[in-house]
Amino acid sequence: MSLGIYIQVPFCQTKCTYCNFHTGVVSRDRYQPYGEALCREILESVAPLAQVVDTVYFGGGTPSLLDPASLLQILDSMRRVYAMDSVEATLEADPETITPEKASAWLAAGFNRLSLGAQSFSDLELRSAGRMHRSADIDRAVQFARAAGFRNISMDLIAGLPHQTRETWDASLDGLLRIRPEHVSIYMLEIDEVSRLGREALARGSRYGAREIPDDDAIAEFYERACVRLDAHGYEHYEISNWALPGRRSRHNLKYWRREPYIGVGAGAHSFDGNTRWANVHDPARYVALIEQDASTREQIEAVSPSQALEEEFFLGLRQLEGIDLARIERDYGAELPQQVEALSGRIAGLHSQGLVEREGTRLRLAPTRLSVSSEVFVELLG
Ligand code: SF4
Repeated sequence: MSLGIYIQVPFCQTKCTYCNFHTGVVSRDRYQPYGEALCREILESVAPLAQVVDTVYFGGGTPSLLDPASLLQILDSMRRVYAMDSVEATLEADPETITPEKASAWLAAGFNRLSLGAQSFSDLELRSAGRMHRSADIDRAVQFARAAGFRNISMDLIAGLPHQTRETWDASLDGLLRIRPEHVSIYMLEIDEVSRLGREALARGSRYGAREIPDDDAIAEFYERACVRLDAHGYEHYEISNWALPGRRSRHNLKYWRREPYIGVGAGAHSFDGNTRWANVHDPARYVALIEQDASTREQIEAVSPSQALEEEFFLGLRQLEGIDLARIERDYGAELPQQVEALSGRIAGLHSQGLVEREGTRLRLAPTRLSVSSEVFVELLG
């Protein structure tokens, strides 16, 4: 089976208030050594040369902060180690980091897909969230990318940013639909202890605009509005948070939801070979030091038990709107885990009677009208 490669670049220009990723703001001097460490990790990986790679995804963080020459070197390292075939090569980029020269250099390096963190077309929301770009930067970034030759652009929006109203949300959807990117991701704001905004919301503070966060019902309504409007404009809703024009689904991200193998390179990057999951150390400085010492960067190595694999089939597979094939699940896990499969069947029946999931033949899927409460479905299903 072909492999996906994920490259983690954990650096950003500023820290967005809602960010709950392991990323940080560091001196630019650290970009180059980090890029070199990524190359070494790739070149020294024990990948069989015959292994075919068909997706590459540079995420973060803000990988577009790395020098284009450094990005090219990383891609070239992959080309030396893997057989690269019809690769979908994605670069995440923040709108304000794009220039015509950079966009051309990225395309020449081999990237053919850009993922733009637009997040909102409201300058008030962007400013409040600590984003560096403004609405006009998004339009400019797309112009540069299109002029350079990018024909596959993905764009993210966040439902639930402080100050967001139905009007500003509609305006953000208008802005996005005017651009008509090939792919769209819409995330609902997560409130947790990890982000500054999340901590503030839990503590009922006000510095980062936590009191201006729309309530859960409003956020669910924003998501539903996006579903309706994107559908009306020809986008296929194929995963809870993702839409695509025909033929433009993210081939890389599909690997995650289908439990296909991928290798993560860089600080904190996760990998899965079909049986085992592992992660690299999170701290970028430690990661670089370990690479320089020829020491292993891996930690949290965990063999996936059949019982965990079964749970993953549900919580990853059901994220896709086409759902999962229960007959295959029964075939793959029924003999080894009869009690677990039977318990799941009972819970599925309960969710079905509440209208939260749908059955069609042997396929099980989340009810399309209840996607905004999918996390509750997963909790009920997997306990
Ligand atoms: S750009 Fe992304 S990774 Fe960086 S701080 Fe903002 S949300 Fe976090």
